[in-house]
Amino acid sequence: MSKDIRYLKGVGEKRAELFSKIGIKTVEDLLYYFPRSHEDRSKMKEISECVEGETVCVGVTVFSPVREMRVRRNMLVSSMVVSDGTGAINVVWYNNKYVKDKFMTGDEYILYGKITKRNGKTEMVNPVFEERGKERFTGKIVPLYPLTGGLTQKIVQSSMENAIKEAGRLEEYIPLDIREKYHIAELNYSMKNIHFPEDFESYNIARQRFVFEELLVLQLALFGRKTENSVQSGTVIEDVRCIRNFTDRLPFSLTNAQKRTLNEIMHDCKSGKMMNRLVQGDVGSGKTAVAAAAIYAVVKNGHQAAMMAPTEILAVQHKEILDEFFKDMGINVVLLTGSMKAKEKRFAYDMILTGAADVVVGTHAIIQEAVEFKDLALVVADEQHRFGVEQRAKLAAKGNNPHMLIMSATPIPRTLALILYGDLDISIIDELPPGRKSVKTYAVGENMRKRVYAFLSKNIKNGMQAYVVCPLIEETEKSDLQNAQELAEKLSSAFPDFKVGLMYGKMKPTLKNEIMDGFVNGDINVLVSTTVIEVGVNVPNANIMIIENAERFGLSQLHQLRGRVGRGSEQAFCILFAHGNNDVTKKRMETMCISNDGFYISEQDLKLRGPGDFFGTRQHGLPEMRIANLFEDRDILALSQRAAKDIRDEDINLTSEKYRGLRKRIEKLVMDEIVMN
Ligand code: ADP
Ligand code: MG
Repeated sequence: MSKDIRYLKGVGEKRAELFSKIGIKTVEDLLYYFPRSHEDRSKMKEISECVEGETVCVGVTVFSPVREMRVRRNMLVSSMVVSDGTGAINVVWYNNKYVKDKFMTGDEYILYGKITKRNGKTEMVNPVFEERGKERFTGKIVPLYPLTGGLTQKIVQSSMENAIKEAGRLEEYIPLDIREKYHIAELNYSMKNIHFPEDFESYNIARQRFVFEELLVLQLALFGRKTENSVQSGTVIEDVRCIRNFTDRLPFSLTNAQKRTLNEIMHDCKSGKMMNRLVQGDVGSGKTAVAAAAIYAVVKNGHQAAMMAPTEILAVQHKEILDEFFKDMGINVVLLTGSMKAKEKRFAYDMILTGAADVVVGTHAIIQEAVEFKDLALVVADEQHRFGVEQRAKLAAKGNNPHMLIMSATPIPRTLALILYGDLDISIIDELPPGRKSVKTYAVGENMRKRVYAFLSKNIKNGMQAYVVCPLIEETEKSDLQNAQELAEKLSSAFPDFKVGLMYGKMKPTLKNEIMDGFVNGDINVLVSTTVIEVGVNVPNANIMIIENAERFGLSQLHQLRGRVGRGSEQAFCILFAHGNNDVTKKRMETMCISNDGFYISEQDLKLRGPGDFFGTRQHGLPEMRIANLFEDRDILALSQRAAKDIRDEDINLTSEKYRGLRKRIEKLVMDEIVMN
């Protein structure tokens, strides 16, 4: 299996080089290079039964030798007539000088190709052909592989056939009891049938096995990371009842989903183990209130807590929100951001070290070296999808393994979250506080721009405010800025009476804060920005969200942006300027217009675009799937999850002989993909 591919029959140096370009170095690598589809060449037909347009296999005898005809200077047409006794076919090749000497009258061949008609004659252009009696890739179901430059189907197909032969009997690594329990086919059967299936049913059985295997191995690998985390001890928060003092004083009562999530958090905090929990909830579902309650408990038990936001603006807002929540409760919240003056920072450091600061709110500045805590017991990371292992380690070093609470407003289907965040426990807030109005959403084209601006103008004259968001343009930060800048200028001249503000990613934080303040206090009527406002900001008086080039955004991102409006009592509107007419774009925009449910939206996006685009999988630290489709294979995913649990319950570190092979595959994945990023 580990044999270098260049020594495989029919490969050699040159082809080995081509294979290595797609990551295939050994026979084993080749075997796990799965076909993208199959072609059914198994059914032979008689020529008289063939219908125009269908692709068929026919067994024929060469009736006339190949004739060449040069129709233009650069166009050579070769043709011959074949028959099978029921009819004749004219076989045609274009610019193929090799076929001339290939065929002799009376030779018997199997052809596979598409039947066409020309001038009433049946034709087959450039068919696959094999001598009768020496068939390899006709008369059966044939695999088609993803190809890159230089490799042809024939090369890969025939190398694969040789690899399966030479590899001989493969050693199974999924134990029999697991295979029986989950109806998973054996390795040798599966390997043969994933490439060269007897029939499509056998193929499906084989595919099922490899999907199961891939997801099982992935989950066991991720779980390895989780156990590393969960064996760590965390500060015990003794008195969790005190939370009532906080919740009783809230101006609202928590939703059931918030209560459930809070219970799960407090259960972790009491357990003595370090918490690693992800809270997923739609925009506006009230994650901050839940985090504040947890922070309250930690502080009232005599420890410190920290809250991290991805941007300075958000950090400032969080500080304000927490101050409001903790008013008159004797809790001191301190801000720490990168743009603070050195003197202010030193002051903050001091407060944090002495314990005068109960809660620190800030950006990544919090985990910089200089910050030392007196007794950090809880870290809340808001709006952060992935809080890297490295960052966690840094934080852990600052406190006594602080409990980690990660909040994300990008709802993804639970089954997927379990994989993506396999090292975290998950709570879901799947309920919005009562009385929320949904944001009315419209997808429009350029022809509606005038009407949209008239509508905008009317609302602003009524005292409301609006966001206009431009997509980030990939090439350079500069063109990104130009784009937003141009639009801001256009809007300024279109509405001379309104104040238009501009905000973009690379802007200095202090300037950003200034602009944001202007928008919060109503001086700025229209805020044009790149996606920097995406997360968290709260301006209840803004009721219109206009998004330019909406087709370039992920639906979850659009949903997030839309969540910036509809926070006040006025009806809110979201207008998507979408370009391009393709069906996927249309469906995606339609999804936004008909739904305000983040989970539904993300599921649709996943369905429409596939997981690659959906996540930019790499970013999420998830290895590329070889065969599993995270959306379509949800059922197998669930099975593999159960199997992973069975295995862990039996032998948590997979040290027994029974799991030796599986352990090897996990180690290989970890090595290949650096899952432990
Ligand atoms: P998220 O961070 O999940 O997007 P927030 O925590 O910012 O949502 O909450 C959105 C708004 O809803 C805030 O103004 C918050 O005070 C309010 N809120 C939170 N929970 C409730 C609740 N149970 N009932 C009513 N309003 C709530
Ligand atoms: Mg929030």
